[in-house]
Amino acid sequence: MEANDPDEDIVIIGAGLTGLSLACWLEELSSRNGQAMPRVRLLEPRTTYDNDRTWCFWDREDHPFRQLITHRWPQWQVSAGKTRVVQSSPRTSYALLPADALYRHALHRIEACPALTLQQGVNVETINEGENIIQVITDTVEVRAHAVVDTRPPANLPETTTTGFWQVFTGMEIHCPDHGYEVTTARLMDFQPCDDYPCFVYLLPKDEHHLLVEWTAFQPQRYNQDCEAKLESWLASEGIKDYRVLREESSMLPMIPISSERRSGRVIKAGVGAGWMRAATGYHFATCQRCSMMLAQQILAAKASNRWHLQPPTARSYWLEWMDRVFLRALRRHPDKASEWFLALFSATTGAQMSRFMNDQPCLRDAMAIASALPPGPFLKAALV
Ligand SMILES: Cc1cc2nc3c(=O)[nH]c(=O)nc-3n(C[C@H](O)[C@H](O)[C@H](O)COP(=O)(O)OP(=O)(O)OC[C@H]3O[C@@H](n4cnc5c(N)ncnc54)[C@H](O)[C@@H]3O)c2cc1C
Repeated sequence: MEANDPDEDIVIIGAGLTGLSLACWLEELSSRNGQAMPRVRLLEPRTTYDNDRTWCFWDREDHPFRQLITHRWPQWQVSAGKTRVVQSSPRTSYALLPADALYRHALHRIEACPALTLQQGVNVETINEGENIIQVITDTVEVRAHAVVDTRPPANLPETTTTGFWQVFTGMEIHCPDHGYEVTTARLMDFQPCDDYPCFVYLLPKDEHHLLVEWTAFQPQRYNQDCEAKLESWLASEGIKDYRVLREESSMLPMIPISSERRSGRVIKAGVGAGWMRAATGYHFATCQRCSMMLAQQILAAKASNRWHLQPPTARSYWLEWMDRVFLRALRRHPDKASEWFLALFSATTGAQMSRFMNDQPCLRDAMAIASALPPGPFLKAALV
């Protein structure tokens, strides 16, 4: 081997949603289009994968995991007290995909593809950028590659944010015979009376006897003090007492504007750390699939041309990022208006418009409908900073 020969074409740092999606898109597009598959190594600290989350999104586009969707709701709603707004769209449903199904499927595909290697139990420590070769140093191995896609979570986020919120939630999947909720409707936000910051219940009836239910708060600080207790007392207030917990999930997602990565080169960021997750919502799955597909197309073209300069895919337009920043700023100043504003947004839009908006693909008309639903005063002030 020459001194300048790399071990791999591409190193993907992190094999979570983004790393695994990119690997599957590469394999899928290369076999679909008969393009040469690059040699790819994924480096991941985890030694096992758990069923640690569920991904929900508006099911509008094709991706390698679509057949793994286990539940779809033709309607979705936002409510506060007795007021509720229900939306639907003929070609779109709200979909749920369990993490364990995606992990299993992706690991199987990686194992079946000789060009893909998943190396688990390794922590990346340093990336050294040479002119043509990138050296990735982990706690156990060194790998040299033409290019690197870094999907590690963002570092150095503030414990208390002034520009957005931490989305703090605790949820559980419960067996609860004849719970009585409409199984055709996903309850996205059922706003609850709260002292300081918005909080709501997210409830997905998986069938007549199973619920996924979460207590969520948008708050400045990164801490989960009592979501679990609040969820339990909400369940009791709904008369849900005899239930069995099948699975639990909780997290703190940054609703903090992270500018979409636009720096090109042989080392690029991807995933939440590159701003793919929407700060204003915490949704990421659909955009992750779209961006992974675009990145996979580029990597296959790089393999064909042997030119490894990569351009990060655009997760969303500048104007949408700007709208989100204004929205978050206004919501920080008027957290008591959250239920009113979200209800207004869902009332003023069609299901098709809202699903495009939530999946980061609104047209200008959708954005106009969104903007005109909100009271001009606080939003003009927030736009002027
Ligand atoms: C409980 C939960 C529920 C969610 N639900 C939804 C939802 O319903 N819909 C939605 O759109 N989004 C949802 N999200 C948000 C988002 O989709 C997920 O967080 C998603 O997993 C983020 O993908 P990612 O690849 O950027 O990060 P991750 O999936 O976290 O992957 C990052 C990877 O980097 C690895 N890593 C970290 N440090 C190193 C290192 N030093 N070296 C190498 N690798 C490293 C990690 O082990 C991890 O595997 C949810 C998030 C959580 C936590």
